[in-house]
Amino acid sequence: MLKETQRMTGTVKWYNEKKGFGFITLDSDGKDIFLHHTALQPNEDNNITSGDCLTFTIQPQKKGLAAIEVTRLEEVVQSRISKKNKPLQYNQIDSGLNFADLDLDSKILQAVRDSGYEAPTPIQAQAIPIILNEKDMIGCAQTGTGKTAAFALPILQRLVSIKNNNNMKTKRKIRVLVVAPTRELAIQIKDSFNIYGKYTGLRNTVVYGGVGQNPQVKKLQQGVDILVATPGRLLDLIRQGHINLGYVEVLILDEGDRMLDMGFINDIRTIINYIPKKNRQTLLFSATIPPEVKKLANSILNTPIRIDISPEQPTLEVLKQSVFLISKKKKQALLEKLLVDKSIKRALVFMRTKHGANRVVKILKRKGIHTDAIHGNKSQTARQKALQSFRTGAIRVLVATDVASRGIDVDEISHVIQFDLPDETETYLHRIGRTARAGAGGIAYAFCEENQLHKLKEIEKLIRMRLKIVKNHI
Ligand code: AMP
Repeated sequence: MLKETQRMTGTVKWYNEKKGFGFITLDSDGKDIFLHHTALQPNEDNNITSGDCLTFTIQPQKKGLAAIEVTRLEEVVQSRISKKNKPLQYNQIDSGLNFADLDLDSKILQAVRDSGYEAPTPIQAQAIPIILNEKDMIGCAQTGTGKTAAFALPILQRLVSIKNNNNMKTKRKIRVLVVAPTRELAIQIKDSFNIYGKYTGLRNTVVYGGVGQNPQVKKLQQGVDILVATPGRLLDLIRQGHINLGYVEVLILDEGDRMLDMGFINDIRTIINYIPKKNRQTLLFSATIPPEVKKLANSILNTPIRIDISPEQPTLEVLKQSVFLISKKKKQALLEKLLVDKSIKRALVFMRTKHGANRVVKILKRKGIHTDAIHGNKSQTARQKALQSFRTGAIRVLVATDVASRGIDVDEISHVIQFDLPDETETYLHRIGRTARAGAGGIAYAFCEENQLHKLKEIEKLIRMRLKIVKNHI
């Protein structure tokens, strides 16, 4: 039952500006609530459109439930900027709620407190009640928004609740499966489960390719409640009989769009066939929802609730962006010229291809610039080493492909340089969001070839601002 005084969050389903009414879909249980323009707080009656996130109180009226005291969620959260927490990449803001408002066990809340988090991020505030309600969900959000805790906390809650607890006398069965596209992300997710679940006694492990399987198999044999995995190794171990997904209750697919980019969609479909369908809760996270991901979602999720956390505003406000018009041939020279600037302390350079990344690294190294590459062809150890050197400042420039860059959790990247413009417009935003974290300033350069001006237009449309164009720079 909904408490009348409780503030709720929801997404505008539709709103007819002329008629002055519409409906909001409740985040907590997917119910539709009537919205009349008179319920909007002053200055809120303009530009209400479907997809907007609102917070409101619910009031029973003659024809059913209606929303009152309606405010846009962004306005609540933007007025409460919290700088004390560990930096968040986007939305460095809390949601107006407390963790204690979310129905979580004290063991989990204690671990959250230990992590120094003061309040849930917007995605946590929205996702946790939905997941606790055992609903399927699509979370349109990327790394840096706090999305790992958004699913890890309610999942741990589900597992600690006594009625569902694995019987300690028998071997533990995998009840939660998280599939992530890259090893780095899988490891980060596993670490998060360790941190948030440290007082729960629950066990988890991670499996990924590129390393020997024996230590992973040993861990699995000891029994785990939560398994985090990359698709290839997971399928391998299932086929060898080391993993049984027959007891999985919750499936989480992280970075759906990366799974697609990396050609994992068919593997995912195969993996799903090993999991019982009945009563399965499925959660899908993806920074963007391309048609193939939508198709996958439609086929494996059961009437999901969708939540969107858009990264745009907080990042853009503190970022200085410039675009250099340049021919393909001169890009390397321009990069070297820019790197002469000593204020470039830690630069992340984005390339379209692995081959291109290797080439740039080779030339920069020859010029005496400490640099390394991170991409899908690098071994696990090489990637971790490059990341660590970047973190500590041993290398100044990290050259990455988009796929490998996901899940990089490095603070204080002073510059993001897009050597190649991305194929997908939205990727521009994800890339520039790697700098200017937690409200700190950041600089984003992009190299645009003369025949790519149409891409630039699309980017400007997406970020709703004109970019500064630099010509005659070399
Ligand atoms: P994620 O999007 O899951 O990769 O999280 C990004 C970063 O935010 C991680 O370093 C988390 O430790 C941190 N984080 C997650 N939730 C919160 C929170 N509620 N308050 C402050 N930091 C958080």
